[in-house]
Amino acid sequence: MQVFKFGGASVKDAESVRNSAKIISKYKGEALLVVISAMGKTTNLLEKLTREYYNNTGVQLQTLEDAKAFHFQILQDLFPDGEHPIFDEIANCFVEIEWILEEDPQDSYDYLFDQIVSMGELISTKIVAAYVAFIGEKVKWLDARDYILTDNTYREAVVDWNKTEEKIRAELPSILDEYIVITQGFLGSTSENFTTTLGREGSDYSAAIFASCLNAENVTIWKDVPGVLNADPKWFEKTELIPELSYTDAIELTYYGATVIHPKTIKPLQNKKIALNVRSFVDPESPGTIIRSTNQTLPVPSFIFKVNQIFISISPRDFSFIVEDNLRDIFNLFHEHRIKINMMHNTAINFTVSVDDTGKNLVDLINDLEQRFKVTYESGLELITIRYYNQETIDRVLVDKEVISELKDRYTCQLLVKKI
Ligand code: ASP
Ligand code: MG
Repeated sequence: MQVFKFGGASVKDAESVRNSAKIISKYKGEALLVVISAMGKTTNLLEKLTREYYNNTGVQLQTLEDAKAFHFQILQDLFPDGEHPIFDEIANCFVEIEWILEEDPQDSYDYLFDQIVSMGELISTKIVAAYVAFIGEKVKWLDARDYILTDNTYREAVVDWNKTEEKIRAELPSILDEYIVITQGFLGSTSENFTTTLGREGSDYSAAIFASCLNAENVTIWKDVPGVLNADPKWFEKTELIPELSYTDAIELTYYGATVIHPKTIKPLQNKKIALNVRSFVDPESPGTIIRSTNQTLPVPSFIFKVNQIFISISPRDFSFIVEDNLRDIFNLFHEHRIKINMMHNTAINFTVSVDDTGKNLVDLINDLEQRFKVTYESGLELITIRYYNQETIDRVLVDKEVISELKDRYTCQLLVKKI
């Protein structure tokens, strides 16, 4: 069996939905499970809605109207006669959000986020499933929350692999014998049946979870790029497609910030030796990139750019060494505030990191660090990672840049830079 994943861009309007449905219907093999994200930028919009509701701004109903209008336009384009029962079904989903918004917010922001934002995936999969059925395929819509079971870390839920695997194995194979299954990415559920989400852009990870539990032959992520490129076309005029990639290179590239695949996706697939294809929904005939077990190293150096970096420098106030106990306390604080370190380095009395500028939780972290350490920071920086670097590639990215910090090992070079 195989697993397909379609992201927001592949279902961002009626034409894209038709195109994705065509791919599903054309490439359906013996058994196919399809994981789909929220349509277009819906997750951002519902995140905005949650914030407005939580902060009682009074504008949340207008944002809800925007989300509704966006989805009903797509429905109208897909089913022009307006008669299909899907119109009522989607209207009911929006009523569920309205019910939440009617009450004053009582729960934590993270919990509310998951209850509201999850609607994006529930709605998109209902629409796509209705359309795939409409073009004549035997399709079944499934609620991923019945299968992906998690703890209650809202917005970043941790999967309970044993329970998830048990549930998926018990129920899905017989359904997949008969139907194309369409389900949501990004969603899970606690043992008390509260909705959780797996972290932003987590639908790739959902596809990997289903694939791993079902021992799929492969996973295909359909994207608006031809496959994995050696740099994001946003930053480089000339990019190259990488036809084949090892799990190791893929996990390193995504860890450093290549956004083409969610970083958590690789491990479950590597563990079961399930190949991951990254292919273009614009040009579905072309092979794209295959990620699998291979000794092949990257044919060209690869570049990852992360903007909006803050360089934080931490040193003990009493001139003591940065040693294991200090480091343990520092790492604990980063973990508590959910701040991911993109680059780190230490000297005798100084520990430096580069992190994404995430706003409030970063300010809270710095306040906590300042209780014990002297902390200085500099914002507005850019982190460039080059995998399989050489001097020429370093020179190329350093034009008009000043280096703040630099780290090299055999394969990877990280440069934290400032524009001059
Ligand atoms: N819709 C979710 C997000 O945008 C999950 C995903 O797209 O993978 O974060
Ligand atoms: Mg998305």
